[in-house]
Amino acid sequence: MSPESLDRGWAQARAEASALDDADPLRDRRALFVGAETSLVYFDGNSLGRPLRATADAVGAFVRDEWGGRLIRGWDERWMDAPFALGDLLGRVALGAAPGQTIIGDSTTVLLYKLLRAAFDHARAADPARVEIVVDRDNFPTDRFLVEGIAAERGGRVRWIEAPLDGGVTAELLAPVLGPQTAVVLLSHVAYRSGHMADAAALTALVHDAGALIVWDLCHSAGSVPVRADAWDFDLAVGCTYKYLNGGPGSPAFAYVATRWQDVLAQPIQGWMGAADVFAMGPAYAPAAGMRRFLSGTPSITGMLALRDMLPLLDEVGIDAVRAKSVALTSFAVRLADTLLPSVAVASPRDAAARGGHVTLTHPAMREVTARLWERDVIPDYRDPGGLRIGLSPLSTSFAEVVEGMAAVGAALETL
Ligand SMILES: *Cc1c(COP(=O)(O)O)cnc(C)c1O
Repeated sequence: MSPESLDRGWAQARAEASALDDADPLRDRRALFVGAETSLVYFDGNSLGRPLRATADAVGAFVRDEWGGRLIRGWDERWMDAPFALGDLLGRVALGAAPGQTIIGDSTTVLLYKLLRAAFDHARAADPARVEIVVDRDNFPTDRFLVEGIAAERGGRVRWIEAPLDGGVTAELLAPVLGPQTAVVLLSHVAYRSGHMADAAALTALVHDAGALIVWDLCHSAGSVPVRADAWDFDLAVGCTYKYLNGGPGSPAFAYVATRWQDVLAQPIQGWMGAADVFAMGPAYAPAAGMRRFLSGTPSITGMLALRDMLPLLDEVGIDAVRAKSVALTSFAVRLADTLLPSVAVASPRDAAARGGHVTLTHPAMREVTARLWERDVIPDYRDPGGLRIGLSPLSTSFAEVVEGMAAVGAALETL
């Protein structure tokens, strides 16, 4: 393509972005986020969402009034219930989960450990032949490391699925590894690298047909794509709140446990907060009924503060509207890559129905491109091999931002 026709292409794309922003029913929400007024291009809301302006004030008020004013009384008045109250809200607005099945607490890694081990131990105790934990080779490192650790710790075996780097786990890949030896399966709903969105209902049914349990990792789903945990018959699920739920760096994760499993599973980190009577200070651990038994120690109330603002916003907007904008944003990014970044490959599904909220572009120089862009306040992230990840957080990202960021990728590639 000649430089002139490229320039014309970008000018046309800018005009198109402006029209898309004008027609966007969520366009006014962007100004609710800190930094939206600057020219910085943020493509990493799938790693760390921007903060809401409301949260900046709420954190100060919490320190002054709630912590500073109520002191230890705060636990009785509000904080003891926070993992359940915010969990129920998160379950309703982001997971399609009826109340009493979602808690906030620990990190994703710790909650995944607790639920995976509980599921493995249960399946194995019910049938000693069930010794395998299934996971895909390209799942997020923490997921793979946990599976290997639990298999080693409990005398189990890892069964790997090989999924393509630009796709993810499908029924065709999952079915052949399932059998009477399967205890539990761990899959990501939206793959962290490619953005591939699995058919969670169909894969859950396959796992159940094999008599096993499934744990869904929803880190790249929650707050970005609709999840129907109850309707899709999930057993267990875990996810982050600092990505598309804008909880802030290191904000606590969430866990979903279907009602039918709550009083059956025993999680391995027995702590006082999960005990039947928290303040009995008794001689031995007896697990609480319901979701409380999946807690271990004192929950991070300060870590949950941003969710008090973000979850009501998501409730007001609705996850379906978020998804509609997400599809429009990623489709626009894919189209710009195809037409105006000829040296780049799209390593994400082209079918929007099989794609989550981010798009990965590959080129051998992307590590260097990412470093250059960060210096210029254009912030995607880099994932080997050669992948520039463009995470498009629907409430805080404009179409104009997409064009400016993509044009910056093109300019960086030209000058390398
Ligand atoms: C972000 C992410 C994690 C992170 O786990 P932490 O315990 O919060 O560090 C885990 N799994 C997936 C799939 C992720 O995308």
